Amino acid sequence: MTRSRPVRLSVSLAVALLATPAVRAAEPTRVDAAFLSRLRDEGLNRGRSHETIRLLCDEIGPRLTGSPSYRKAALATRDALAAQGLVNARLAPFSFGRGWELENVSVTLEVPHAMPIAAIPKAWTPGTGGPKTAEAVRVTLANEKDLEAQKGKLAGKIVLLADPVEKKPAADVDFDTYTDEELAKLSGFEIEAGGPPRDREGFAARRAFQQKLRPFLVEEKVVATLEPSRGFDGTIFAGGGGSWTPSDPEGVPGLVIATEDYNRLARLLARKKPVKLTVNVAARFVPPAAENAANVLAEIPGSGRADEIVMLGAHLDSWQAATGATDNAAGVAVAMEAVRLLKAVGFVPKRTIRIGLWGGEEQGLLGSRAYAAEELAARPEPTDPAEKELPPFARRSTGPLTLKPGHAKHAVYFNLDNGAGRVRGIWAENNVAAAELFRAWLEPFEDLGVTTVTLRRTGGTDHQSFDGVGVPGFQLLQDQLDYDSRTHHSNMDVPERIPPGNLDQASVVMAALVAHAAQLEGTFPRKPMPKDPPAPPAAPPAAAPGVPPLAPAPPAKPSPAEVTK
Ligand SMILES: [Zn+2]
Repeated sequence: MTRSRPVRLSVSLAVALLATPAVRAAEPTRVDAAFLSRLRDEGLNRGRSHETIRLLCDEIGPRLTGSPSYRKAALATRDALAAQGLVNARLAPFSFGRGWELENVSVTLEVPHAMPIAAIPKAWTPGTGGPKTAEAVRVTLANEKDLEAQKGKLAGKIVLLADPVEKKPAADVDFDTYTDEELAKLSGFEIEAGGPPRDREGFAARRAFQQKLRPFLVEEKVVATLEPSRGFDGTIFAGGGGSWTPSDPEGVPGLVIATEDYNRLARLLARKKPVKLTVNVAARFVPPAAENAANVLAEIPGSGRADEIVMLGAHLDSWQAATGATDNAAGVAVAMEAVRLLKAVGFVPKRTIRIGLWGGEEQGLLGSRAYAAEELAARPEPTDPAEKELPPFARRSTGPLTLKPGHAKHAVYFNLDNGAGRVRGIWAENNVAAAELFRAWLEPFEDLGVTTVTLRRTGGTDHQSFDGVGVPGFQLLQDQLDYDSRTHHSNMDVPERIPPGNLDQASVVMAALVAHAAQLEGTFPRKPMPKDPPAPPAAPPAAAPGVPPLAPAPPAKPSPAEVTK
């Protein structure tokens, strides 16, 4: 098959070009081929990433940030890293709120006939206090006018909150790997039009309405709310629906049910046919506790340039609908396996290699943001109460960054969080000099399908916490598989969705990238520090001399509340 590959420098040409001294901060030196052979041999023949999948998915299960099961996962991965021979394996707690755990759920259709309904409670919504049988009604509650109109009408009801979901003909790609043509297209840069497309005001308005809706539903004595999943074929996508802020009201039980079931109930109600259901949810809120919301960190110490740090990582937290295999036990397994491989082949890095397993990613990159604020650079807290009210990812820039000593010492961060697809390359985030290095470093993995270094940027993963403060951070480019159509935040995010071999491939590539970065002569190339965004209405404080102001990270993935809409 003819491969229409993106343009790539041959290694010799790359070396020749990079010999031009005036513009080079770093040489694209490759660690020697014998080392790469050992890495491939260990990783592809004796890979152990599946052990992490068994531990996190089968033994521990869902790992919602703030929950006791997250704590179990944090302690278990910390201990596993220590057992692998890493040093300083530790938990680094970050500020969060209350946790939430699901203890039981069942939904049964009673009228017109008995039938079980597949349902997942939305995280941070309360239990029903035992089985509750009630009539279902379908209403729209999208603004304050709707609340006014429904006042006094919903007591004792189970409320269907949304319109039925149209099933599109099955043209959607269910399982997608990149073709050579798609990869070639991807390696062409795309200039982004205008500023970040984040609808900040829209988000704030939706959030403000949710904060009115929750007490309204409680006051009206609604038994539970039901919403359809965005998936079909029994796949239920369910994220958050309540608040992890301990002072917020708990609201009423909120559940997502299979789309096919939801549509049928909505059709019956539209025809004025009676629908009765029994809903039974046991869920409990858990008081904030340090170890329930903590990053896991551990190191392979450097020798020679030990105070400089090369990082790799993935997020440890997941949602409640399944066991978070592709989002993101897969990334955790790969990062842990990459450091195991480096130890197994006796690699002694010049720079210290640090692994970071993040919590709170699903709530807005909270764990990695906290790490960045502590180690790399921090901004002042907002003073405007309306800004303060918003989660960090939705806030405006709150003034200049204060750089921490670690800002200069962190060379680069590599992240894996796009499911269980093979690595096909890397998103180079518009860092031309880094892309040159990556082309040379990834060339020995072309036979494993790693062919593409794109200067494009990608969003929604923890690399943004680094990139956003001017420290190089990268997400590897992965085949999508059925991440969007089936597994991402769904009840189908299970180990069966991880194709055999993919994590071994990714681990070897990740280990090689980290090893190259750890041995790099000179400094890892950086982009210019991001510029300030357009001035907000209130004048921001003046930048401290010598401290470049910084734009917010590019748009993160939508908030969990939005995702589950
Ligand atoms: Zn994820």
